[in-house]
Amino acid sequence: MSPTVRFAPSPTGYIHIGNLRTALLNWLFAQSEGGTFILRFDDTDTLRSRAEYAESILEDLAWIGIVPDAVHRQSERLSAYDAAMASLKAKGLLYPCYETSDELDRQRKRLMARGLPPVYARTALTLGDAERAALEAEGRTPHWRFLLPNFAGDPQKPVRTEVTWDDLVRGPQAVDLASLSDPVLVREDGSYLYTPCSVVDDAEMAVTHIIRGDDHVTNTGVQIALFEALGHQAPAFGHHNLLTTLDGEGLSKRSGALSLRSLRADGIEPMAVASLATLVGLSGSIEAVESLEALGERVKLSDISASASKFDPAEVERLNAELVHGFDYAAVADRLAAMDVPGEQAEAFWLAVRANCARVGDAAAWRDVVFGALPAPAVFAEEDHGFLDTAFDLLPPEPWSRDTWKEWTGAMKAATGRKGKALFMPLRLALTGLEHGPELADLLPLIGRERAMARRPAD
Ligand code: GLU
Repeated sequence: MSPTVRFAPSPTGYIHIGNLRTALLNWLFAQSEGGTFILRFDDTDTLRSRAEYAESILEDLAWIGIVPDAVHRQSERLSAYDAAMASLKAKGLLYPCYETSDELDRQRKRLMARGLPPVYARTALTLGDAERAALEAEGRTPHWRFLLPNFAGDPQKPVRTEVTWDDLVRGPQAVDLASLSDPVLVREDGSYLYTPCSVVDDAEMAVTHIIRGDDHVTNTGVQIALFEALGHQAPAFGHHNLLTTLDGEGLSKRSGALSLRSLRADGIEPMAVASLATLVGLSGSIEAVESLEALGERVKLSDISASASKFDPAEVERLNAELVHGFDYAAVADRLAAMDVPGEQAEAFWLAVRANCARVGDAAAWRDVVFGALPAPAVFAEEDHGFLDTAFDLLPPEPWSRDTWKEWTGAMKAATGRKGKALFMPLRLALTGLEHGPELADLLPLIGRERAMARRPAD
């Protein structure tokens, strides 16, 4: 059976490199197995979720090259959660609780003061009908907890109950359900928490592999119990490590700085971002990989390191430059046309300047150097004036080719005796206005005789 995976962001901000890591590990896994990739918006938090963030997530994924096979929104699936919660209630596995958050807080503190784990004592489970009615008459509305299957006969006496799975990334894992509080699935106002919606969707959408960050490992113990309580077989799980910044801080949707949106606006190539998001924390070096297919060949879930991976945002610049230096003309033709680089010379221009571009957009500055007017004439040392006069007198007639530079400088060498830097630096300065740049042999035929003569320094 081909796998079905899902990426389930909450649309509460722009996605960043860390979110993309999860999306790509799912996407590459699905691609390698001929599987299905679902994008599911976990948008039941109506206060923080926004339609425009969902839109931007779709756009940002498309920019990377991820096009989901299906898109779902949890906010449109409430009736499925209602049905599942009703079935749990009917089985006695979802019970009403009336404690306020202050009361729960005090209970937790008391337990911790006694050196005990702050696990909910299931007090609400012991309430009789009359007591519940009295609490409701006081104006309390219940929240609802899932009764974890961690006891033999008496729920007040939990016993060690290990939920185990063979994690696709981390290998054999175990969570002891007796160490956890019964999770709240439904809030007092009737709204659902993440856990029930996620499990119901994963079951109904026939997700076969859940690949997500390792901040969800404990949730997985609870979720496997919930899958079973709802009569479903739990899927396979893989928990990848999280990325942190160099100072060890986690990435947040709120910071915005490493969002895909800002990287894209900054002229970074999608494959530079995808390579970094995926290859950090894998064995092997972080290189700019030119396509998602090639990236997929580099990724094996079981190779991902178990501890958090520090991630240096500056790496994206290096990877971007690596990619740009290797781009052939076809990869940038549209963008050069949009920059008004003359079509018939665009390919030769790109091949001449690409090694001097950290971003494709840097080509605009070289377009001005080659095809435009130089911003300011260079200032030359006294002794260079005579040399440049001779040089421009010797400028060969067109047609020009890559050999013209050699021909021209050969003639100058013979006429003036200059060589090396003393020969080419004044020429570079006169022709480009800059001390550094692409090979002059490549630039000269693009500049052409007319523009070159116009750059002849005035005496
Ligand atoms: N919305 C959840 C998150 O972003 C999804 C977790 C999951 O993949 O189950 O953390």
